[in-house]
Amino acid sequence: MNQRADEEMCGETLDCDGDHAVECGTGPLRKFRHDALADIYADILEEIGAVARREVFVPEFSAGAVEAWLDVWGYGVPELPDALLDITVRHPRAVRYQPAAARTAGHAAAQGEREKHATYPAAGGRSIWAIAHETWGRLGAQAEQLLKTCAAVAARRAWRRGRAPGNCLRRWRAQLDAALRRGIAAQLAAARCGLPGKQRRRQAPADRADLEARCPL
Ligand SMILES: [Zn+2]
Repeated sequence: MNQRADEEMCGETLDCDGDHAVECGTGPLRKFRHDALADIYADILEEIGAVARREVFVPEFSAGAVEAWLDVWGYGVPELPDALLDITVRHPRAVRYQPAAARTAGHAAAQGEREKHATYPAAGGRSIWAIAHETWGRLGAQAEQLLKTCAAVAARRAWRRGRAPGNCLRRWRAQLDAALRRGIAAQLAAARCGLPGKQRRRQAPADRADLEARCPL
């Protein structure tokens, strides 16, 4: 798995199953896929009445130079008073999950959860929800538990307003699945056809900025 700058080529040979494409760290698309899922989890938390925040700094998990920024924070619902979500997508076919993932259903997601909990062990009374999705659709145990808890909150809130609870669990699953599929489709298309254009530059290089400062007008 390569972590490289946006404009660099990965250089890996294209495999016919797209196994490398869906886990390749080159380019912006893996983050794009991850962020789409995180946004939907934030929407779900807001829908059940929580205050939802993205990219949250957590001092309890930070030490020294290591800063812990969690993907989503849901706050204020009695059932989920302090929900810190760290989201990850894992590909079961990846070498690092084989051969265990071929024998045990959900191995890649479970491994993702274990790694997230190892990165952010519970501290100061706070702990994370490790939200793991497998590229083929399965959710990890914690993600399943979170969605069921959110659905129970939605049902309670609907009951207090005299309404039927609705099919929010089914709707949320469809939204999450669609976001993941869109992300994977973008990765496969980019692996085959490339990602057009250049990355947008936000800051001018120092020498250009100098020219601007010395402009005589
Ligand atoms: Zn690659």
